[in-house]
Amino acid sequence: MTLTDRILMGPGPCNPYPEAVQALGRPMLGHLDPEFIALLDETNDRLRTVFGTTNALTFPVSATGSAGMEAAIVNFVGPGDTVVVGVNGVFGGRMVDVVSRTGADAIAVDHEWGQPVDVERMLAAHPNPAMYAMVHAETSTGVQSDIAAMGAAKGDALLLADCVTSLGGVDLRIDEWSIDIAYSGTQKCLGVAPGLAPLTVSDRAIERILPKPQSWYLDLNMIAGYVTGSGARAYHHTAPISMIMSLHAGLGAVLDEGLDAVRARHQAAGDAVKIGMQRLGFELFAAEGHRLAPLSSITIPEGRLGDQSEAQVRSRLLAEYGIEIGGGLGPVAGKVWRVGTMGHTARLRNVTTLLAALSAIVD
Ligand code: PLP
Repeated sequence: MTLTDRILMGPGPCNPYPEAVQALGRPMLGHLDPEFIALLDETNDRLRTVFGTTNALTFPVSATGSAGMEAAIVNFVGPGDTVVVGVNGVFGGRMVDVVSRTGADAIAVDHEWGQPVDVERMLAAHPNPAMYAMVHAETSTGVQSDIAAMGAAKGDALLLADCVTSLGGVDLRIDEWSIDIAYSGTQKCLGVAPGLAPLTVSDRAIERILPKPQSWYLDLNMIAGYVTGSGARAYHHTAPISMIMSLHAGLGAVLDEGLDAVRARHQAAGDAVKIGMQRLGFELFAAEGHRLAPLSSITIPEGRLGDQSEAQVRSRLLAEYGIEIGGGLGPVAGKVWRVGTMGHTARLRNVTTLLAALSAIVD
């Protein structure tokens, strides 16, 4: 099976939209070429639409989603600040680590895996934190948390949302839900290759950017002059031109199809995975009412795979059918599968193929 034959449904680098792949081969432009600046401006506008924001400071950070996380933290907090972090999976845990490295006090509000972040517990954790941070769509558990409820209750604190697996795949309204800072990654529901971290920062949060954040590369005071605003741009770093062209094209594909239609396609594919897997005798891991469409977490009942291990079944899906599904992480490693239906791969035809292939392997 050739690489291009593969369906690659798993979380991580899924098959990007064809438009996004083709754009990677466009003739190169200089990073200060007016034509490139215009393309970057349009990319930022498209990002504003998918984020649901009018935030002026909206752009793709030149690195992966984790750099978006760092930029969203290191610019706003440091020694003497307290950050309350909702932890209901791997990526909330990563936020705690990043916050701690700034010297700020990270209060981790731990949740059982599979459960959403509990806003009341976040509020009870500290009377006046500088920031609340939580993951909108936990890729490690397939759980969606209610960011709007946190936004309504945040008081004077900033609200930071990890939207890596929600942007472009599920309802997201940065402005309406009072989210101050949000980041994402290009490789998930946006259907582009990995490598950029879309970031958006509210005007309220801009006023709180530290004068000298602990990172040079991610210092928004300097980056802002290069990636946003009108007129000539001051050099900060050499933009990854081809990736930005690709993101521009991927966002174009999403907006041409229509954001609502794209989200409905993610929902339909996620529903089909969940229904089909239950029909095959598997169970759903994420708490009911909080199940994420683009990432379905599946519990493997004892004995369901006969004498094959769950890793063997995943390897066979990839080798024999070109379908990649993710294994469980952390405490649910070996017990849970994670089936991503994101971006271009969020299509019923892929789900049908997965279910048939799985049935052929384990029945
Ligand atoms: N946050 C979430 C929810 C993720 O799923 C991921 C990656 O899968 C990240 C952050 C980190 O992004 P990256 O791997 O692009 O650095």
